[in-house]
Amino acid sequence: MDLVVEDGVFVTMATDPAPAESMLIRDGRIAAIGPAGTVRASAPGAEVVRLGGATVIPGLIDAHCHVADIGYLAAAADCSQPSAPDIAAIGARLREAAGRTPEGSWVMGSGYAEYKLREGRHPTRADLDRAVPGRPAVLYHTSLHVCVLNTAALREAGFADGQPDPPGGAFGRDSGGRLDGVVYEAPMFALFERNLRRDIARMGAGAGAGLVQAAGRRLAALGLTAACDADMRRDTFAAFAEADAGGLLSQRIYGLVVHDQADWLAAAGLQGRHSSRLATEAVKIWADGGMSSRTAAISGTYPVPPHGSGIMYFERDELTRMVRHFDAGGFQVCIHAQGDRAIQAVLDAYAAVLAPGAGNPRRHRIEHGGAMYPPLAERAAALQIVVVSQPGLLSALGDGFAAAFGDRSDQLYAFASWQRAGITVAGSSDAPVITADPLIGIRDAILRRTSDGRLLGPAERLPARDALALYTTRAAFACHRENQTGSLEPGKLADFTILDNNPLQTEPEQIPGIGVLATVLGGTPVYQSTDMFPGH
Ligand SMILES: [Zn+2]
Repeated sequence: MDLVVEDGVFVTMATDPAPAESMLIRDGRIAAIGPAGTVRASAPGAEVVRLGGATVIPGLIDAHCHVADIGYLAAAADCSQPSAPDIAAIGARLREAAGRTPEGSWVMGSGYAEYKLREGRHPTRADLDRAVPGRPAVLYHTSLHVCVLNTAALREAGFADGQPDPPGGAFGRDSGGRLDGVVYEAPMFALFERNLRRDIARMGAGAGAGLVQAAGRRLAALGLTAACDADMRRDTFAAFAEADAGGLLSQRIYGLVVHDQADWLAAAGLQGRHSSRLATEAVKIWADGGMSSRTAAISGTYPVPPHGSGIMYFERDELTRMVRHFDAGGFQVCIHAQGDRAIQAVLDAYAAVLAPGAGNPRRHRIEHGGAMYPPLAERAAALQIVVVSQPGLLSALGDGFAAAFGDRSDQLYAFASWQRAGITVAGSSDAPVITADPLIGIRDAILRRTSDGRLLGPAERLPARDALALYTTRAAFACHRENQTGSLEPGKLADFTILDNNPLQTEPEQIPGIGVLATVLGGTPVYQSTDMFPGH
């Protein structure tokens, strides 16, 4: 059935936009877009949906988030600030969560940032023991690079006082050297994975698919039609594949498969495009820690706790070996790199593997790129590295960045400078680290205002159209999909989002208040807040 969408404002994001008043959708694709009369005349029998002046933009794309984790953490107690302002409030939330957590699963909270708490420190095992005594409880930091365990969880995880720090990670310790419950980086990732896998297994058949379906519904309500899952593993891949087979995916999912599972994926014949909604074409590697956990690998040391220089997972030679291996295997390589020391090592690895003069045909990426200072940005541009970053971190966590980076904080996430250097920058959320709401990311790319009202890098503010491009045309490019999605043009997939206001004509402060009226994937609504598409 042909569908005509008209009486709207069309922000096509096409390079060469012709005036558009109406759009014809046929077989899941955009068949025509242009003047209302012409479009109607080309499809006389079409169903017509009149939008009453609403704005149509290309379906929004989150080029780096953690879809399965969004579904999984939906069950965790909300321990974010300002909603839980101090450790007592976190304790109350965890106690409440304990009441609804099945026996055998860990009680789970998430979303705190220690520097936003009234106490200005991480909660400890003693704090968690008071809230949840006698059974394991875990509190995940908003960065998902740190967590806190109570005594029962420490015991079940096999972490004991006197044990040395594990490779790629660290334990927090009290003045007597005993574990205080805080766990940084590698052991935290292992723990998260173990809990996720165990809880999916416990929930039984179809649970994994249900979890990614729930996450997809949330993302669709935010206007998202595509998302990269930035740590796809064997079991979460199975969950996505099951959801896809059941027609339960509300986004096109582009999987970044964790490096130690990519060889398995390739050997099992699962590398590539599985359907129009599921693909595994990329590999994810972590070079260093996180910005808000102060574990990103920097030159120099942090002036704030834990006062280190950050954590590197792989040094240059090991990174080079991995990039060479996956590049030869046909994978796009996506490396998490936040600190300048890590970014330097990643660029060295890419430079060693990419043939001089041949560009970057697989579009290898840097994920985040927080402290990619000007000389590094020049190098990344020369290598044609794609950078996938997160403007929304600025309002959510920017005050913490300012404390950790001082004078240099204006040079973090320098989107305008990066683009001027010639880098393709794509937008994303890193959810559930922060909200997946792309309208918040768009606002932050324009305003760069922290929650305390500080301007972080005012020279790096983007015009509204460039901010929207991060989540449309640029994000499509970062996933090799610019011929399919990212703009509203004939022949492309009919992925679009209908808003109650035009983000290019709205005061930036008001952009997050714009309502998503409908999210349409391949011509079929996957979300609508009103009955705009009756019968769907
Ligand atoms: Zn991430």
